[in-house]
Amino acid sequence: MISVHHLSHSFKVGKRGSEKEIPVLKNISLTIRKGEIASIVGRSGSGKSTLLHLISGYISPTNGDVMINGTNVTGFNEKQWAQFRLDHFGFIFQSFQLIPSLTTFENVELPLTLKGMDSVKRRQEVMTLLESVGLKDHSEHYPNELSGGQQQRVSIARALITKPSIILADEPTGSLDSETEQEILGLIQQLNKEQGITFFMITHDEEVAKISTNQFHLEDGVITKGGNPVEV
Ligand code: ADP
Ligand code: MG
Repeated sequence: MISVHHLSHSFKVGKRGSEKEIPVLKNISLTIRKGEIASIVGRSGSGKSTLLHLISGYISPTNGDVMINGTNVTGFNEKQWAQFRLDHFGFIFQSFQLIPSLTTFENVELPLTLKGMDSVKRRQEVMTLLESVGLKDHSEHYPNELSGGQQQRVSIARALITKPSIILADEPTGSLDSETEQEILGLIQQLNKEQGITFFMITHDEEVAKISTNQFHLEDGVITKGGNPVEV
């Protein structure tokens, strides 16, 4: 589903003329297969978010390739990436990133509107999904009228609504208390088992990573555990 080949990334920092290249990811190779909950576990600063940004096209690698569903996405331009993300990915963030002026229903509906689906079909799909993530009775609430766990359920529903091939999750339980964390991890496992949804999650927390079916460890930009390089 996703394979990363010899991926490296350096950030340029400092004033113009005296920039320094800081290597953040070094020769990463890994494969994520359909139906997995794959996780990257590493301390803060190890390069986890950078890896996710490379896979989702928000930054371009210094070296190496990313293949997603058989497409080499490495040379994509901004417009190609925008369409590709809408077609292939759902995103879940630590800070939920819901739109505060939109209700639960409207937040989850938005990606379908962007995809051009008509409103009758949109309503059907959104209500069915809200029911399956336990939010049927909160469809008219605004984000600030929901608990943290409920907000994360909304963002999971928003990630799932386009039926993406994979959900990318950056510290999905990082701002939740431990009880709510277990609830959200349970939902991720349930969606994986019952609907075969593939997840790629990054976390600094070994406890959270326990739900994964395939684990990679990242230390200072290097995969130290897991990793199953496939030659191009
Ligand atoms: P993690 O998500 O594992 O905490 P990040 O991928 O966010 O780690 O960051 C890895 C390293 O890259 C850190 O040392 C961070 O300071 C550096 N870094 C991240 N983004 C940038 C950037 N835009 N410019 C320069 N350095 C960056
Ligand atoms: Mg991070």
